[in-house]
Amino acid sequence: MKIIGFEKLSLVDYPGKVSCILFCGGCNMRCPYCHNGELVLNPDLFPPFDDDEIFSYLEKRRRILDAVVISGGEPTLQSGLDEYISRIRDLGLLVKLDTNGLRVDVLKNLVDRKLVDYVAMDVKNSLESYGRTCGVANVDTAAIKESIDFLKEGRVDYEFRTTVTRETHSEENFIALASLLSGAKAYYLQNFVANENTIEKGFSPLGYDELQNYIRILNKTIGNVQIRNL
Ligand code: SF4
Repeated sequence: MKIIGFEKLSLVDYPGKVSCILFCGGCNMRCPYCHNGELVLNPDLFPPFDDDEIFSYLEKRRRILDAVVISGGEPTLQSGLDEYISRIRDLGLLVKLDTNGLRVDVLKNLVDRKLVDYVAMDVKNSLESYGRTCGVANVDTAAIKESIDFLKEGRVDYEFRTTVTRETHSEENFIALASLLSGAKAYYLQNFVANENTIEKGFSPLGYDELQNYIRILNKTIGNVQIRNL
């Protein structure tokens, strides 16, 4: 398990909890609007954090912290993820996993073993538009669908979320997403925010009225749809 980013305190990354965030490098997708371009493309440029440093911080702060968020990159690519999470849980902390859902077997294993308390899965787009949105033309959309359906079973607290850009998302996509995510517990639209570190340039956010239109479409099948980064 290689941690290459460490944010010591966050009030927003785990709903209702005080958390810290551990970032893993590398990813099995290449979303062109990804905010963590260097971390995804060149993880070896980042010196890894020492486990002792991280766990000594967690021990010292366990009364302030509720939870640890494991983010990326894509954490499910890391070997030793389950042992690492077990070590965090032994400190009495909750664990949230941020994932793109492509490694459905790893996700299911962590949930079945009750190693994670909350899962935030990025749903990039409708399945038809997944390849171009995530930068992997032949992406395994069956695995994505399996992860979505698995989380919808509600064995673990979860949310779906989609980063939306004007260049990658259309009304047609949201009509398909309303069907794909039908019955989901929580779905967040994250409006794109421009940043220096994206894998490619040329993306822009949507306007308030467009997002409201998409929420109206999604609300027909999903009870709790909210916007982040308006
Ligand atoms: S947005 Fe997430 S899934 Fe996409 S390339 Fe970046 S880290 Fe990977």
